[in-house]
Amino acid sequence: MNCDIAIIGGGLAGLSLSIDMKRRGYQVSVIEKGNYPRHKVCGEYISLESHNYLQTICPALSGLNLPMINQFKLTSGNSKEFTTQLSLGGFGISRYLLEDLLFKEAEKQGVKFLLHTKSQDISGGPEDTSYTVKTSAGNVTARIVCNTSGRKSNLKTSEKINNAHATNYVGVKYHLKLSRNRELIEIHNFPGGYCGISGIEEGKSCLCYIVNSKKLNKVNNSITELEKTFLFRNPNLEKIFTAAEFVFKEPITISGINFLKKVSVTDNAFCLGDSAGSMAPIVGNGMSMALRSAAAFAEQADQYFSKVITKQQLVKRYAQFWEKEFSARIRLSRYLQKLSEYPFLTKRTIELFNLVPPVANLIIRQTHGHPF
Ligand SMILES: Cc1cc2nc3c(=O)[nH]c(=O)nc-3n(C[C@H](O)[C@H](O)[C@H](O)COP(=O)(O)OP(=O)(O)OC[C@H]3O[C@@H](n4cnc5c(N)ncnc54)[C@H](O)[C@@H]3O)c2cc1C
Repeated sequence: MNCDIAIIGGGLAGLSLSIDMKRRGYQVSVIEKGNYPRHKVCGEYISLESHNYLQTICPALSGLNLPMINQFKLTSGNSKEFTTQLSLGGFGISRYLLEDLLFKEAEKQGVKFLLHTKSQDISGGPEDTSYTVKTSAGNVTARIVCNTSGRKSNLKTSEKINNAHATNYVGVKYHLKLSRNRELIEIHNFPGGYCGISGIEEGKSCLCYIVNSKKLNKVNNSITELEKTFLFRNPNLEKIFTAAEFVFKEPITISGINFLKKVSVTDNAFCLGDSAGSMAPIVGNGMSMALRSAAAFAEQADQYFSKVITKQQLVKRYAQFWEKEFSARIRLSRYLQKLSEYPFLTKRTIELFNLVPPVANLIIRQTHGHPF
């Protein structure tokens, strides 16, 4: 199969890039190891930064009555809490619905999908004008390749990431029916992690937590025990778990989450979304990072294909864009992630935020980006 751009991984970065590039008139192939629709572990809160872009590439989204979220609450397990208005805020939508709508839009626009197909390798060097992606369903040849395979890709690239010393986290998600303020996103801290809850479509809420995997090991890998032993040390969480009606029988889980530094460009691919670096979920901005990198890359790739810039300029401009836009946000998210594992530090942070609210508002502003 031949195309202008081969996209490895049809998550948020891959799907949005595929639609954007197709609308600009290019031949696009997406290689996705899974299928749609599907649930994914995610807090499902999207910074309003990406609202306009998402509605432009996927008009079906504008017809939905999604919860707009403009208030934030942080609690630790000892009756300490901080609440504030969000200056930019976000909206809620399940990954199941969002990816399904994006996939349908991409198909409508004429993007070619290879589903249930794993990309295994990319051949070609930095100076080449054609690359071959080896997949479980044969080869795909493209003028450029984008790696949008996310945080846990098995894909071999020219960059090797050392994860021997990384802290590993586990993510758990439920959909709930629960009477609560739909304009509010809550973050409840507990020993080893934190749990977010916010509204999504059809009156439901998404409850998602991330926890240091050592805590799960301590309770013999039982999610129920984990919740009783650690999450319920924060009474707000015990109250939510007791009052809620759970939509899924079992939670959706993911293990092996880490926040290692990666690279935005390799010898043979441009990396977008989590494949270039993961934002810790505490800042609720990873999805926006995926969408923003797609929007910026599509514009730059268009200039390259139209011969306005060279391949070297494309590489340089994308790497510079990535560094300027995301490096500081990722560093801040990792710092907040570490801090939020410890109730004692969260308690001190809440005290500081209550004493000097502009500090909290400044940090929140840094995590939300600006509309594009
Ligand atoms: C617990 C948790 C909570 C989060 N909460 C939020 C939140 O509330 N708000 C927010 O903005 N962000 C949140 N995030 C972050 C967000 O989920 C990610 O940043 C986002 O999903 C990144 O999108 P992506 O397209 O880069 O990767 P992904 O969504 O991971 O997509 C990658 C795709 O590539 C496919 N793939 C992988 N390898 C291959 C291969 N070899 N061949 C073919 N296909 C392949 C996968 O099947 C997948 O579809 C959270 C993350 C976690 C872990």
